[in-house]
Amino acid sequence: MVRAIVGANWGDEGKGKITDMFASQADIVIRFQGGANAGHTIINDYGKFALHQLPSGVCSQNTMNIIGNGVALDIPKLIKEINSVTEKGVPQPKIMVSERTQIMMPYHVLLDTYEEERLAERQFGSTKSGIAPFYSDKYAKIGFQICELFDEEYLKEKLTNVLEVKNLLLEHIYHKPLISVDETFNTLMEYRDMIKPYVGNTAKYIREAIKDNKNILLEGQLGSLKDPDFGIYPMVTSSSTLAGYGAVGAGIPAYEIKDIVAVTKAYSSAVGAGEFVSEIFGEEADEMRKRGGDAGEFGATTGRPRRMGWFDCVASRYGCQAQGATQVVLTAIDCLSYLDEIPVCVGYEIDGKVTKEFPVTPLLKKAKPVLTTLKGWKTDIRGIKEFDKLPSEAQNYVLFIEKELGIPVTMVSNGPKREEIIFRG
Ligand code: GDP
Ligand code: MG
Repeated sequence: MVRAIVGANWGDEGKGKITDMFASQADIVIRFQGGANAGHTIINDYGKFALHQLPSGVCSQNTMNIIGNGVALDIPKLIKEINSVTEKGVPQPKIMVSERTQIMMPYHVLLDTYEEERLAERQFGSTKSGIAPFYSDKYAKIGFQICELFDEEYLKEKLTNVLEVKNLLLEHIYHKPLISVDETFNTLMEYRDMIKPYVGNTAKYIREAIKDNKNILLEGQLGSLKDPDFGIYPMVTSSSTLAGYGAVGAGIPAYEIKDIVAVTKAYSSAVGAGEFVSEIFGEEADEMRKRGGDAGEFGATTGRPRRMGWFDCVASRYGCQAQGATQVVLTAIDCLSYLDEIPVCVGYEIDGKVTKEFPVTPLLKKAKPVLTTLKGWKTDIRGIKEFDKLPSEAQNYVLFIEKELGIPVTMVSNGPKREEIIFRG
């Protein structure tokens, strides 16, 4: 069975924890999009990990962790990450990288940085991991698949052609030092040696696993609202964040993805620029940021303070629908225990009219949140294992959100640790 775990919002919904939980029963965990810009926090017996490129199954010894063809692979960062995991006592994980996965080139990271520099205050708030230049090149057909590293003559010729254009950009647009073919070629040879032990035909491996009825988990990065088509374009990421893209980014027949678990957080957070209707500011936001997540809401990749807001039913319902969610996990509900009253965004007011439909970006810019207020529970709810044992106000909060989403909330997460979760029948 193939299951996808994906975000319904702006990312950082707590997918890492949920994936890690499911990974202990999975045979295969697959990353199918995105790259080193991701940050999935998992906490287990080995300690706390912020995983960037590694699938969240790396702490489960029987799990095969696959980096699919849809990923933007930063090879040195991957190797570093593998080392950082084993250094904490985790046995060498099983990892396989698709031979079709494309390589994050050193100049992608440079160009990402230079472009944000050029844009100055108009910048996207990129993590400067090279993601946008990488996917631009992939679709402009000047990217490099891992398999191309093994044909030196071909590689050198292609590199010479590609660097011609990159050097024009560096010289005339960015006024930065040029890149040498030989140096880049040598770097790629180092990359080849680093990645070689992990490279394989992952699509074939997955196809056979499906035939053998294996448990397969697709691990999404970011969330629906960062999808280049359905998100808050242009303040989005450069690869599709939707479960459906798992079919392409991993090489799985679309009809095999049977279960789509959308993760949504009991409040909202976002990193980088872009529309965020239910955003809060000042002390109210500082308080929520301090109490959010497992150690405050700060980016797992960049350490940036996350923007905070109330739960947004309009955006989250849309986000679940875009994913095709079959079930929803509501995370971090314990982080709201300090509030007497909890506002929730139930509509958008645009040009004097209230809507519950998530609009296109030009209209979204004008949207003002319509809030309703639910009662807080004002007591620590961590450690509670059954839904019925939650204070009635907390139960009502979950039920209210479930009704707004129109999709069953099957799990409620009330702490960052793997076992801090309430299953609903
Ligand atoms: P991801 O990118 O979706 O995997 O999410 P992140 O790991 O970037 O951010 C989620 C944060 O919330 C992390 O710090 C998690 O440890 C934390 N977290 C996840 N679920 C819960 C929960 O139920 N309660 C609390 N307090 N923190 C949680
Ligand atoms: Mg994250």
